Amino acid sequence: MMNNPDKFTETLFKNIFSGSTAKVPPELGHEFKHLLQRAQDSTLTAPIIELFSRLSKVKDEMGISASSLGIARDDLEALALKHVSIDEHGVTVGGRVGSALTIVEKAVRRVDAYLDEKDIEAPSGFEIWDSILENKKRIMTLLGMDDHGWNSYEGQIRHCIDSVEDLAKIVELSPRAVEEITQVTRQYRMRLTPYYASLIQKGRVNDPILLQSVPTHEMILNKGREIPPVAADHSPARLIDQFYPRTAIIKATNMCAMYCTHCLRIAHIGKRDQIYSRDAYEEALDYIRKNRSIRDVLVTGGDAFVLPNKVIEKILTALDEIDHVRIKRLGTRIPVTAPQRVDSELLHILAASNEKKPLRVSTQINTAQEVTPASAHVFKELSKTVSALLNQAVLLRGVNDTKIKMWKLCETIHENYVRPYYLFNCSYRNPQFSHFRVPIETGRDIVESMYGNLSGDAIPRYIATAGGKVPLHRSNIAEDFHDKSETLKDPVVTLIKPWTGERVAYPDADPEIYNGGNFAFRNGH
Ligand SMILES: *Cc1c(COP(=O)(O)O)cnc(C)c1O
Ligand code: SF4
Repeated sequence: MMNNPDKFTETLFKNIFSGSTAKVPPELGHEFKHLLQRAQDSTLTAPIIELFSRLSKVKDEMGISASSLGIARDDLEALALKHVSIDEHGVTVGGRVGSALTIVEKAVRRVDAYLDEKDIEAPSGFEIWDSILENKKRIMTLLGMDDHGWNSYEGQIRHCIDSVEDLAKIVELSPRAVEEITQVTRQYRMRLTPYYASLIQKGRVNDPILLQSVPTHEMILNKGREIPPVAADHSPARLIDQFYPRTAIIKATNMCAMYCTHCLRIAHIGKRDQIYSRDAYEEALDYIRKNRSIRDVLVTGGDAFVLPNKVIEKILTALDEIDHVRIKRLGTRIPVTAPQRVDSELLHILAASNEKKPLRVSTQINTAQEVTPASAHVFKELSKTVSALLNQAVLLRGVNDTKIKMWKLCETIHENYVRPYYLFNCSYRNPQFSHFRVPIETGRDIVESMYGNLSGDAIPRYIATAGGKVPLHRSNIAEDFHDKSETLKDPVVTLIKPWTGERVAYPDADPEIYNGGNFAFRNGH
């Protein structure tokens, strides 16, 4: 045997030489003669790996050994050495064939079903773009819109769909649905931009876009004792919400381009549109000026992008002038509800503010279906303009409550310059939304299924809003925590890999070293 083969290579050789020495079909003999020759002639690693992989496979599946294929051990040992010497990281044939390739193969099996189903169960707006364009043409005719109207924010708002009569022209609704929507919209406001309505897929009864934009009778059935809205207990000043020491929110408007059926701020939004006075903004800014602990300010609403460019510019400029405010955020859903709004003037204002201090934009995208060529264009422009573009999704039954839908959402936005940031559990505060709520365990399983399968920066944090944002992740430390049989000196914890449930021992920091007093540059002081 060659010098110091690693344990993988030893096992590999043992395996491929352990099969029977029975006669082999001549074609197989020819194939291996050819594979061996190629591996010997080549200066690459792939032919060597192919030879060893085939040898393992033939042994495992047909019980045929390398010897019975007429391959000499010496030749294979020479090839194994050659492989180690070519590979930059000195990977052995055993390591690659016996371990790495098997690990990858197993890992790929975890995403097989996802890759098969994702475009069927959760099509993105790119994948159904043709039918969106057909919808667009039909809606433009029905609402009497021209291209200019469609492509402008004013046109999108002027032609918004806010009555069941208009909705019924655009979406096929049963007489019963019409009746129910009529009743609900007496109490709850409905407004879809024509653009958002064009994303609704014909023939899908619970289309996720429809669910998010058209209120259903459950809102009346569920209506119960209202829990006071957040503002009642978290608003220390006019337009301000604050419950973190260093972060404050300015609710700069109560308007949105579209009204979501799951809106957490339902108490402030959607009764009637209000234009806030200069005094109101001044008092809010004054609060921030006076509170020097505030470093991060979120301007939200409603939807921050509903505000005229001039107002956005004024607020951002005022914030940039406050020394202790170091970083800003704008909250908007407009990139998916009315992407036409994001014009070059707005981008210019955002760029100028971002130049002074980092500005992030946080948006709300709940399905891959909302990512279309139109919204993706806006994400790309925004991502070039601000320091981060983040998504805060809401976990909603029927909208994004399966592994495939959520993975697809996160991958799709990730590929379109948006980083998944939060996944909110649907609020308990508004009983109207009970029908949209998803059990925490389901949400947790979905989020944890992403670890190890999606890029780290495509995985959102799963959060409940309950007097602040509370993470809902299950601890990945097994309950037994420190292994009792170990001495205190070398505590070992048992970690659980979220993607397989496999338990692995993980030595914790040595408490004696950790509590050992001065260290590093303080040593000896
Ligand atoms: C969500 C929220 C924030 C921001 O929280 P981050 O974790 O920094 O994104 C701040 N204030 C209030 C009241 C909030 O609801
Ligand atoms: S965009 Fe946000 S604030 Fe506006 S209706 Fe939707 S969830 Fe509510």
